[in-house]
Amino acid sequence: MIETYVEVDIDKIIKNINNIQSIDEESMFCAVIKANGYGLGAVRIAREIEEFVDYFAVARLEEAISLRKSGITKPVMVLAYVNFEEIDKCVKYDIDLPIYDLEYAKKINDSISGKLKVHIALDTGHGRIGFRESELDDIKKLKNLDNLDVISAFSHFSTADEKDTSFTMIQKERFYNILNQIKDYYKFKFIHLANSAGAIKHNITKDMMRIGISLYGIYPSIEVKNEKLIYLEQCFKYISHVSYVKDIPANTPISYGRTFISKEPMKIATIPLGYADGYMRAFSNKGEVLINNKLCKVLGLVCMDQLMVDVSGMEVYMDDEVIIYPNIYKESNKINTIPYELMTSIAMRVPRIYKKNGKIIDIDNYLGEIYED
Ligand SMILES: *Cc1c(COP(=O)(O)O)cnc(C)c1O
Repeated sequence: MIETYVEVDIDKIIKNINNIQSIDEESMFCAVIKANGYGLGAVRIAREIEEFVDYFAVARLEEAISLRKSGITKPVMVLAYVNFEEIDKCVKYDIDLPIYDLEYAKKINDSISGKLKVHIALDTGHGRIGFRESELDDIKKLKNLDNLDVISAFSHFSTADEKDTSFTMIQKERFYNILNQIKDYYKFKFIHLANSAGAIKHNITKDMMRIGISLYGIYPSIEVKNEKLIYLEQCFKYISHVSYVKDIPANTPISYGRTFISKEPMKIATIPLGYADGYMRAFSNKGEVLINNKLCKVLGLVCMDQLMVDVSGMEVYMDDEVIIYPNIYKESNKINTIPYELMTSIAMRVPRIYKKNGKIIDIDNYLGEIYED
């Protein structure tokens, strides 16, 4: 038995894709699988969903190349910077790049042999990468760079997951405004704008939606979740097991620093999960896990590889199942973060188990295997 692991249900991912696609059946679907598929395993997931999507997006060149090396043939785009010295590899592996700086684009154009597919990144208010409206001349000059095949233009929302929709509308307007001013220069094959929140909350899809977090069944925020326009189901479970149970008298300290001291007799369970598994130390004395259908509070500081929880008054035994992040929205909120960060923080040493049609199809375990040949 593996004590602590993440179980990924491929069927649920496919259902989420279908449900999100129902917002607009005509729109292309770009599966955003950066950061190793939000921590769940980019290559495994890409292989399983390739037939249901039109595009893949990642953040690093290495991620894009590993998709190609694993046999992915659908278009792959990098959403962020790629070092100039590595640009050749984008041509070699047929990987699309965002373009957001004229000088950089010229350098790329002069160095490559062969055509590179690029998407013009437009900054409409996210403030990260992209040409701004004041740089229209630069955008127009990209047209002279023969080795760049400008297939698309895109932008990214900064507040599409918030209650107040006004800035999203401003960004959308700016996007179309810029496109309007460069329309005589480029014949884009398609344009893209929406992330999960843009598609689910605002129904913005054309011509392609870039779906990350919601692919995995998580709403971008509670605001988006509460509107329940599109049904999503969390595709993963983070599971551990009770490794030890003990009764303690009053006045017993728990964990490093003695930040928790029992005021009365209690029952304590130890769990083989710690901050080295990506369960953040910020959950010390705050987090909750689910054991036998009851929420159990983390007591004391989270250790590197283990933590303790309160199971007073419960029937709990060694090897009982523990659900980590029973409500990932609530847990992330407790430590002022978002489900995105909790998911992408799950450490590589935590094995990923993949299920399809109720059966285990793959296990990725970077710790190594236990079984003997
Ligand atoms: C991460 C990312 C997305 C996906 O965002 P979600 O909120 O996870 O759907 C889309 N577009 C860009 C440019 C991104 O960086």
